[in-house]
Amino acid sequence: MVIRGEGGYAQAEIRRRNLSRMLRELHLSGPMSRSELASDLRLNRSTVASLVGELAARGLVWERSRTKGVPQSPGRPSPVVELRRDGPGALAIDLSTDWIGAAVIGLGGTVIGSTRRDRSLANTDPAQIVNELHGLVGPLLERVGDGPRVVSIGVSVPGAVRAEDGHLHHAPNLGWRDVPMGNLIRERFAYLGVPVFVGNDADLAASAEHLRGSGRGSNDFICLWGEGGIGAGFVVGGRSLAGSAGYAGEVGHLTVDPNGEACHCGARGCWEAEVGEEALLRRSGRDPLGGTRAVADLLSAADRGDEVALAALSASGRWLGIGIAGLVNVFNPTRVSLGGLYARIYPYTREAVIRELDSRAMPAPRAMVEITTALLGANTLLLGAAELALAPTLYDPTLVRLTGESPRADHDRWRPVRASRVESDAAQTQPARR
Ligand SMILES: [Zn+2]
Repeated sequence: MVIRGEGGYAQAEIRRRNLSRMLRELHLSGPMSRSELASDLRLNRSTVASLVGELAARGLVWERSRTKGVPQSPGRPSPVVELRRDGPGALAIDLSTDWIGAAVIGLGGTVIGSTRRDRSLANTDPAQIVNELHGLVGPLLERVGDGPRVVSIGVSVPGAVRAEDGHLHHAPNLGWRDVPMGNLIRERFAYLGVPVFVGNDADLAASAEHLRGSGRGSNDFICLWGEGGIGAGFVVGGRSLAGSAGYAGEVGHLTVDPNGEACHCGARGCWEAEVGEEALLRRSGRDPLGGTRAVADLLSAADRGDEVALAALSASGRWLGIGIAGLVNVFNPTRVSLGGLYARIYPYTREAVIRELDSRAMPAPRAMVEITTALLGANTLLLGAAELALAPTLYDPTLVRLTGESPRADHDRWRPVRASRVESDAAQTQPARR
């Protein structure tokens, strides 16, 4: 807790918290009138006016009249407070098993521009991939020139990531081990002079889906995500579950059959070895390394009623249901969302998944849980990466300097200690544009 020492310290912290609540409300709910903000945030009108004034002075919001046609209460028309399009934004990066993606995303989750190159990342050189990414990002940034100012970079990777510095410990499906991903990106994009945050794909998918998609309104939510393999992001009691260093959620490597197939992680009989893309393709008689194209071929065969394809999907669905039943028993979620490969195959695996869930999960938690698919589509990981990158700005909007404001001597004094990355964000944030 930060309330100690002199009164100004506590005052500044209360102010910081209210600015954060207001910015987050606009970030998640879109434009709102001052009176809506006052009632949602339980603040009085003069406090709301003062907070809106400060967010505007920092170049984060502006006020405009409501669009014509929107019904208004009688009396003076109430202007709405809205996030500025040229406010702070993130460069979001998605390194998936089968593609490299990037986007510029503003506060509010607005995708201003995006780009993607389809190519397999399996057994590639990470430094080479970061070079290719650099080649994609240059034209993207040029295209969105008058969009948000990029104040940080968020990166999604399909592997176990150390939250502190973005060190990628292991990405089994890429064959990458001990890759200093945070540093590689930081060095290659040094010209932007912004901090870099790296996260696990399933964790970022869970974050995006929880805030804006299939997990909205659920405080106990699991998002299963993967293209080649499978991982999970957990929201427990409204908070995301990271584990002590950020490695939590590697459900793909739960042992489901001690004598089962070999897994890319080096163990045997992992859940991923049964539900992953390779297992699905192998069961259907296709090249296990055929990637998304082979899966698309498999699904069109299933649409034509091909029995081998349908049987392969059903077998994968059975294993999927077995794993989900275990997660339901452990976490008692209200919603489990399937994303990536698992969303695409769900129409074909649903029956088997539900059958296993019904027979293996305990009746009470089973009755409470709904199985659904991710809603945010191809942008899910990019939105999650942007959420990670913009977290410091949302936590402390005063990191965005007032026009003409120089770094204050007392700027760091009352800021909670929250990893040096937040400090470096403060140092990098440019004065707000007019
Ligand atoms: Zn494994």
